[in-house]
Amino acid sequence: MLSSATMDTEMPSPSERAPERTDFIRDIVAADLREGRIDTVVTRFPPEPNGYLHIGHAKSICLNFGIASEFGGRCHLRFDDTNPIKEEQEYIDAIEADVRWLGFDWGEHLYFASDYFEQLYEWALDLIRAGKAFVDDLSADEIREYRGTLTEPGRESPSRDRSIEENLDLFERMRAGEFPNGAHVLRAKIDMASGNINMRDPVLYRIVHAAHPRTGDEWCIYPTYDFAHGQSDAIESITHSLCTLEFQDHRPLYDWLIENLPVPSRPRQYEFARLNLTHTVLSKRILLRLVAEGHVRGWDDPRMPTLSGIRRRGFPAEGMRDFANMIGVARADSVVEVEMLEHAVRDVLNRQALRRFAVLDPLKVVIENYPEGQVEQMEVVNNPEDESAGTRAVPFSRELWIERDDFMEDPPKKFFRLAPGREVRLRSAYFVTCNEVVKDADGSIVELRCTYDPETRGGASPDGRRVKATLHWLSAAHAVPAEVRLYGHLFSSPCPGANARDIFEDLNPDSETVLSGCFAEPSLADAPIGETVQFERLGYFCADPGSTPGKLVFNRTLTLKDTWAKLQAQGRHDTP
Ligand code: ATP
Ligand code: MG
Repeated sequence: MLSSATMDTEMPSPSERAPERTDFIRDIVAADLREGRIDTVVTRFPPEPNGYLHIGHAKSICLNFGIASEFGGRCHLRFDDTNPIKEEQEYIDAIEADVRWLGFDWGEHLYFASDYFEQLYEWALDLIRAGKAFVDDLSADEIREYRGTLTEPGRESPSRDRSIEENLDLFERMRAGEFPNGAHVLRAKIDMASGNINMRDPVLYRIVHAAHPRTGDEWCIYPTYDFAHGQSDAIESITHSLCTLEFQDHRPLYDWLIENLPVPSRPRQYEFARLNLTHTVLSKRILLRLVAEGHVRGWDDPRMPTLSGIRRRGFPAEGMRDFANMIGVARADSVVEVEMLEHAVRDVLNRQALRRFAVLDPLKVVIENYPEGQVEQMEVVNNPEDESAGTRAVPFSRELWIERDDFMEDPPKKFFRLAPGREVRLRSAYFVTCNEVVKDADGSIVELRCTYDPETRGGASPDGRRVKATLHWLSAAHAVPAEVRLYGHLFSSPCPGANARDIFEDLNPDSETVLSGCFAEPSLADAPIGETVQFERLGYFCADPGSTPGKLVFNRTLTLKDTWAKLQAQGRHDTP
């Protein structure tokens, strides 16, 4: 599609490798390459290390790294570490691990805004010398008051007309640590009457006496986001600085700083809509509160929308990436149904997950005509969607576990599973018939007495005899005990906080159900952490990082039922 512009060159140009995928940002990048405004596309993902990455960040990561790889450019990982009060090394480490998990690699291009503090300081001095910045004595509250509103212009600070010499002297002394927090700020001198509040003499530097995770006590003045971001982009030769829509009104300031500073390159900012998901909060501030106030087991709780949370929950990175492709990139804000993410994840798991047997609510079955002490290894298919996954042996013996709700003593019409006098298939094993129900003194069912048909080995019918149900099962003597944790939405409301006074009122009290006394097939005794399997007929599950061979713990990744596909089939889904 782009080849006409590059037909006469020998080497394939990056634009020839342009993607199938298209959106307004990719169109801009393709045009900039095609029309020679840039040679190489350079993007960056710029997290502030003040929390763990969430699914919204994944959209930005997939966009920035995706564009770089599709157009033969590069993507930097840059920590926007300009606020030492909220930032921690723990977050830096977690963010690196999460971007890698998602499948992206920044190579040697790992940067920190704090690496540029000296250069940024020099540029601030340049602005002061040019009469375009001044040291202000107003307090934060006064600055807010002087700023005006959307309908009223702001007022100029009394400090605005300080001499250049005095400004230089004060700013140097700010750096030297002579003043307490809040005593002064450095502001750009732009236009207090601007219709854009961001242009009303924005703050460029603050005094913050706090140790920084990387620069320690070297600095006690820190640049604001606005002063650090665009200049960091320029230092790194970023061509397309992609951010979310809330920065649109900052773009004039971004451009003003680039134009008024001797920066080495001319990056441009483009904005796209942030991702919003139903039943989900994508705000580090709220996620931090969930952790700090103990509503979840930590940043990586399987209910958290953090990348470490969905990883622990068993979502494969491929599903997350597929989802990012499905939703695309646009300029209009929208809310995506969380079921769409689950659909993308199920799609990957259905293809890849090994099938296993587990019984969550066990009911004992004794096969009365099966020899005591005999054990047979039944051959069971690992993944009907993938022949290369092969088969495994699952032991079968006289005493078994089946799922309690696969039996009804007095079944209604549409219940086809096990019942007194009825025959069903035990998957890949035998046909069995229930002959007797054993109860305890309270009348609860404790055991079923059954017989099997030895002619049905492997679960095949020898004479065309039909059964209406196939159940999963475990040999009681071989099954391994496990705890299983079932997860639902962390927030019961589709739009958390929309109607509640406090967003935490919308927390789902039943978001986690812990089942003890479950059993799993022996092959799961050393299930690798992070590998998601399908417990047949029950859903997708993965071993929790806290699981040990002595105490197995599985997290339910998702149920088998695809509610998004259903919504779509009913025509109730709006594709974003
Ligand atoms: P939060 O609102 O959760 O605190 P943030 O924007 O403050 O997020 P940053 O660490 O500054 O967090 O974000 C890094 C990058 O990720 C930014 O470019 C930001 O625009 C992008 N980003 C953050 N949230 C989303 C989202 N929900 N959808 C898409 N991109 C996002
Ligand atoms: Mg931010």
